[in-house]
Amino acid sequence: MRTHDLAFFRSLDEQKRAECVSGLRRILSENADEMIAQFYDVLLRDDNASIYLSRSIVQERLSSALAKWLKDLVNIDLASDLTAFKKRQEIIGDVHARIKIPIHLVLDGAAILKGAITAKIVAVGEGDIAAKIVIINEMIDYAMLFMSKAYVRRSVERVRVDEAYRLFSLGQDVELERETQRASLMEWSQKLLFDLLNDRQGFKIASLGSSSFGLWVRHRAAVVFPNSSALARIEKAIASIDNDILPALHTTENQSALLSRFNELIGEIKYLLSDLFQGLIAASNARDPLTSALTRRFLPAILGREVAVANQRNIPLSLLMIDVDHFKSINDTYGHAAGDRVLRQMAEAISSSVRPTDYVIRYGGEEFIVVLIETTASEAMHIAERIRSDFESTPFVVEDGREIGLTISIGVAAHDGHPDFQQLIQAADEALYRAKSQGRNRSIVFDGKNE
Ligand code: GH3
Ligand code: MG
Ligand code: MG
Repeated sequence: MRTHDLAFFRSLDEQKRAECVSGLRRILSENADEMIAQFYDVLLRDDNASIYLSRSIVQERLSSALAKWLKDLVNIDLASDLTAFKKRQEIIGDVHARIKIPIHLVLDGAAILKGAITAKIVAVGEGDIAAKIVIINEMIDYAMLFMSKAYVRRSVERVRVDEAYRLFSLGQDVELERETQRASLMEWSQKLLFDLLNDRQGFKIASLGSSSFGLWVRHRAAVVFPNSSALARIEKAIASIDNDILPALHTTENQSALLSRFNELIGEIKYLLSDLFQGLIAASNARDPLTSALTRRFLPAILGREVAVANQRNIPLSLLMIDVDHFKSINDTYGHAAGDRVLRQMAEAISSSVRPTDYVIRYGGEEFIVVLIETTASEAMHIAERIRSDFESTPFVVEDGREIGLTISIGVAAHDGHPDFQQLIQAADEALYRAKSQGRNRSIVFDGKNE
């Protein structure tokens, strides 16, 4: 597919292009603050937008990000590769998707900026006004194209993971649902056999397709198991029972062959049904098999939700990033299996030090993230120190019975109101980096100033 590719800008000769771009650069560099103020003025009047923008941390960061973005637009250089520019737009789209900002607000913001810039171009009145207006519009649209593409891609991904996480949270319900549907299938088939035995003449039974099991297959299962081949086979088996077997059961000929085919089909449906749910249970399995901590896959679902709750209700939220000190040398000296046992011991130590409602996530090989809900920075620091000192004072026993001392380093960060949870992860990561560089076996809280 060919997308719009700055056609007007490209059509200009080099001199004209340079002249327009330098004019635009001047206008933007002299008026960026005013235009951004206008952007906020308009958007903050919109209730939907103000949810995202009203926090001072967002205004601070977004203002400088917007100023940079505007500058970036008029630095587009056709002679060079545009990949890096596109990539920057995609990163912005990713952030928008992460904080779940509706795309119409982003488009609205772009339209406000376009209007403000156009008004300035006209007011300044220098050179080819029309060309400048077309160029800036073209560039903003070009940037929005890549931003939106990334936004849509990320949102789709997010919805998929959120859904898997929802199923995981409903854990038991998945198995309950499987049992319920299995029971409803068995109830239907037993009723059929019972009626058949008792009243062969007036025998008439509702089809499997119209039974509660059949309804579930057509309506619910199609949503829960989209594009599933097992589900397609279940539907085929139902059709075969309803169309080939039930009408023929009236006749006495061949009845035993029909009944044995009937049993086969019911057995097949039962088998496919557990297959179907097995996949679902596995997909919603959020635990790392080695440590039983939650896997990283659900971090966006967890943090996205917790950051939103913290902002809505104005409650604190903190994060710990924990990393074993010199873990590589444990593997090298005592073997990978010993390393694995250390990780299990570590996950246990962490889990037993936090509340059941906190989240312990295996973030990387020997890195864990702990999401501490309703917890301030100083409380989080306290918890971190408890985990760290417990770990330090519990010797690790290696195969030959020797005890070795192990330590961990912890980065602590408190949520600062920014809706993008990635910022919180980065803050904890920076704090961890400082803990490592200051000598390890310590907890450091991110104070916002470390670069
Ligand atoms: P530092 O104090 O700076 O954190 O040093 P380090 O050696 O712990 O840091 P580094 O990140 O360089 O080493 C991490 C090691 O963790 C490398 C990798 O072999 C090991 N590792 C990652 N995942 C696993 C795992 O599942 N089991 C085991 N046994 N080792 C793992
Ligand atoms: Mg590491
Ligand atoms: Mg390490």
